[in-house]
Amino acid sequence: MELRRGVAVSPGVAIGPAVVLGAEGYRIPKRFVKANAVDQELSRYRHAINDVCVEIGESEKLISERLGKQYGAIFAAHIALARDPKLTREIEELIGQKNYSAEFAVSRTFRSYAKTIQNLGDRYFAERASDLFDLEKRILRQLLDVRREELTQLTSPVIVLAHNLSPGETANLDTRYVLGFATEVGGKSSHTAILAGALELPAVVGMGDFLEEVEGGETVIIDGNHGVLILNPDEETLREYRESEKRFKSVSVRLAEMGSLEPVTRDGVRINIHGNIEFPEETVHCLERGADGIGLYRTEFLYLGTDKIPTEEVHYDAYTRVLKSFPDKPVVIRTLDLGAEKIPGSMKEEFGDVPNPALGLRSIRLSLMQNELFRPQLRAILRAAVHGDIRVMFPLVSTQFECRHARLLLGDVKEELEEEGIPFRGDIPVGMMVEVPSAAILADEFAQMVDFFSIGTNDLIQYTLAVDRANPAVANLYSAADPAILRILKTVLKAAQGAGIPASICGQMGSDPIFMPLLVGMGYRDVSVTPHSIPELKQVVRSLTIPVCEEIVRHVQTLDVARDIENYLRGQVKKICPELEI
Ligand code: PEP
Ligand code: MG
Repeated sequence: MELRRGVAVSPGVAIGPAVVLGAEGYRIPKRFVKANAVDQELSRYRHAINDVCVEIGESEKLISERLGKQYGAIFAAHIALARDPKLTREIEELIGQKNYSAEFAVSRTFRSYAKTIQNLGDRYFAERASDLFDLEKRILRQLLDVRREELTQLTSPVIVLAHNLSPGETANLDTRYVLGFATEVGGKSSHTAILAGALELPAVVGMGDFLEEVEGGETVIIDGNHGVLILNPDEETLREYRESEKRFKSVSVRLAEMGSLEPVTRDGVRINIHGNIEFPEETVHCLERGADGIGLYRTEFLYLGTDKIPTEEVHYDAYTRVLKSFPDKPVVIRTLDLGAEKIPGSMKEEFGDVPNPALGLRSIRLSLMQNELFRPQLRAILRAAVHGDIRVMFPLVSTQFECRHARLLLGDVKEELEEEGIPFRGDIPVGMMVEVPSAAILADEFAQMVDFFSIGTNDLIQYTLAVDRANPAVANLYSAADPAILRILKTVLKAAQGAGIPASICGQMGSDPIFMPLLVGMGYRDVSVTPHSIPELKQVVRSLTIPVCEEIVRHVQTLDVARDIENYLRGQVKKICPELEI
């Protein structure tokens, strides 16, 4: 048995057999297959080689046509290498006789040859070694892509262990069979983590290297409450965790009963708790827990996990489905926030491989550049608004020009619908996310341009503190309690109040119960959160009074280390709400 720690991102306990997804370009785990699966593994390998040779053959043809046969010959040499009888024999022996997985056998053989060649110390040979590494990568990509596709064809429960899962892959996990997951990379506010919460799958991320230690099929436990992964648990641990799984379910049932209670402080102040969703189906979770509406609908998930660009009708259908669940509550539709790590398969080439994608062409910048993406969405939002209280919100606004431009386009789309005689509602509130420092610095100016603010602390922390939200190596620096972030929250609220517009928090900070007294003490009255955290948050709110919250704010101002502030806040919430497990 082996216990590993990571970052807890979605609560609950899951126990089951592991499916291990390797990662081309990284180490390949030392994995074995069962004796009766050897033939299948050999055939996987042979198929991969055939596919790779077809792929290289296409490049050979293209380059020969464009540059001449002598350049095409480089690719012909790669094909010869991929089919080299000695290499093939060695790889097939490792699979057939030692039961290595195809990935491990390929990786081991190619690397050992490449290293031998490299050690010859000759420049010509060093280049041949890099050919071998390239080829290894191609074959692994082929093998691993197929394995990732297999995730869509599960027939029994599994726990997914991977180097990384993209938001698109996570969104498409089949929750009938995937019980939970653990990844080597990722941070608390990464989109993959957020999605785990949305899908209500126990999950741990940022584990560091561990895949090498696991074999597919072995039993593992994911403890999403404490950020623990247990490999090969002994009988006693299994028994304890089965108990803990039951306990977690019964606490969830008890907390769910809070759904019908109002989030009102002991001295009578109503705090509005909205839900964050990525899929229309999540409105069920929000309704069960008594959400005050939808404060953030991340519509880019309509694009992830599908090869087709969603049409206006697909948008319209999704929005009207959400409105059906909340016919008389606000529903904030955030326009596309594609880019960075949220890249649809069909747009991979368009985005390319840029060094700093979080600072690149993403979000509202992309929407403003690609009207064919943006206009159908705006049309669908305005049309769906006929059926309820829809509000539109622009993500990642960083300049006033962008904000004006987006509003102009919205105006254009209204005129277009008017001319076409299509029913729509034009007077919907228009808001923006405050998640870039420039928007926070000019919050008083922006407050004159929009009807509401929603603060995206996930990105705001990343950009303000220059800390990648998904990188475990700097996770200790990523904190909503950092004094710089708290100062920004105060400034933005003041700017909103000055202009008479509402400001809410929709980043993960709002979902963490330790921050609730602080936010209330600062003057925030609206949050939008991961649905599963609503009951806990209601419990905290119902234990607070405004003077206690204001005192907490005063004390926090005397501290200057994020970790100290977090510890102090945790201690306060434990004191105020002792029955809560935090
Ligand atoms: C945020 O950045 O806080 C936010 C809510 O948006 P996302 O997590 O989708 O980037
Ligand atoms: Mg964001």
